[in-house]
Amino acid sequence: MSGEETQRNVFGAETASSLVKELRDNFGKGTTRSYEWRVSQVKALLKAVVENEDQIVGALCSDLAKPPLETVVYEIGMFQNSCEVILKELKHWMTPEKVKTSIRTFPSSAEIVPEPLGVVLVISAWNYPILLSLDPVVGAIAAGNAVVLKPSEIAPATSSVLAKLIEKYMDNSFVRVVEGAVDETTALLQQKWNKIFYTGNGRVGKIVMTAAAKHLTPVVLELGGKSPVVVDSNNNLLVAARRIIAGKWGLNNGQACISPDYVITTKDYAPKLVDTLKTELESFYGRNPLESEDLSRIVSSNHFARLSKLLNDDKVSGKIVYGGEKDEKKLRIAPTILLDVPQDSSIMGEEIFGPLLPIITVNKLEESIDVINSGAKPLAAYVFTTDNKFKEQFVKNVSAGGLLVNDTALHLVVDTLPFGGVGESGMGAYHGKFSFDAFTHKKAVLYRSFAGDSAIRYPPYTDTKLRL
Ligand code: NAD
Repeated sequence: MSGEETQRNVFGAETASSLVKELRDNFGKGTTRSYEWRVSQVKALLKAVVENEDQIVGALCSDLAKPPLETVVYEIGMFQNSCEVILKELKHWMTPEKVKTSIRTFPSSAEIVPEPLGVVLVISAWNYPILLSLDPVVGAIAAGNAVVLKPSEIAPATSSVLAKLIEKYMDNSFVRVVEGAVDETTALLQQKWNKIFYTGNGRVGKIVMTAAAKHLTPVVLELGGKSPVVVDSNNNLLVAARRIIAGKWGLNNGQACISPDYVITTKDYAPKLVDTLKTELESFYGRNPLESEDLSRIVSSNHFARLSKLLNDDKVSGKIVYGGEKDEKKLRIAPTILLDVPQDSSIMGEEIFGPLLPIITVNKLEESIDVINSGAKPLAAYVFTTDNKFKEQFVKNVSAGGLLVNDTALHLVVDTLPFGGVGESGMGAYHGKFSFDAFTHKKAVLYRSFAGDSAIRYPPYTDTKLRL
């Protein structure tokens, strides 16, 4: 048994409890409330990532064979951007906001004072293990909290890098990492936190919310779902196909929460769409995509088996129109397109989270909105169209965490937009100022003076007072 495993095995409820107590005592001293502490810690975390880019790229290669460019752009680059926004805006975000008061409190003044929540827990997932860990952590720090991060055990190399970097670069009186799996997370969830920020699947989301309810702890749940792409015949087909590929296979080979899960298009248009997707896929990943270094592998043999099972469902037999190749030893699955998939097939019954793209066909494009709304609310929904009427119809009638017209995934990088789910795809949001808000209590403060003390509110409650 390695030293690391021994350390993990001893992390139970008691250790978790003393960790939280230590951080709560430290938090009580008020250090994290200052602007200076927050900025120093945001800068330290940024430095940790920038100085160790090679180590991070290497860890993601080991966990997922993630192409270095994807790591640099979507994990490191996006995190850097979050830090830059915080460093630019934090003073402004921390400033109490003066608000109008009521005639009933005259004379008075009022303000909303942002205050940290306390000691918070961030539980993250394996698919973007740097971004999904550090983006909420840096939001929690910016808001002046003490924070414990529990990275995903399914990306062990990255989890270990995160633990080492946070230990080395951060103020460990307030920022800590606990590595581990279900047992360690369960021990952490038994504690009283001031907020739990969870990224992962809905089944565990329910476990997190149930544990949080015991202490009335608020939660942010960043979950997933089946994010649809509706493709109208009124579009620039080449650009649409390339953008679908970029959002599906170009994001961790489909293992992304906002990657297109399935396509809906009309029966007439589907063959054209499939042909263009095929041509562009081949130009991106070559004739043997299993060998492409520009595609991540499947994260684990469990996920490989789950995806294989979706392809083996009798209801989709004969539906593969592109791809389908697999290499179990290397955990690789090629980009795969399935046409005219029945809606009661298992591939349509769960989030795919991998390189398989089913296409559903409808007679009229308007039917796509009913198809989407008949299922659980997705994290993202995409539409490719130049028809303004349909665009408006889509934006008005489709409920999802976020919508994107004529592209995929890029709404994620706009830090002025909240990122989060709705219904089954989650609750709460973050990114940009929304990250600061997620970990901040907006304290209402009313200031009164001793002047103008009206007798109206005091007994005896006479008829004259009632009529006023
Ligand atoms: P995962 O297996 O890494 O699990 C997430 C976290 O939950 C891990 O830290 C893990 O240790 C913990 N966990 C697992 N089982 C647990 C249990 N029984 N009790 C307590 N904790 C437990 O990740 P995953 O769930 O496979 O992630 C994929 C899912 O996450 C997909 O549904 C995807 O759409 C969603 N996701 C959402 C976002 C988002 O931002 N909304 C981002 C990434 C992934």
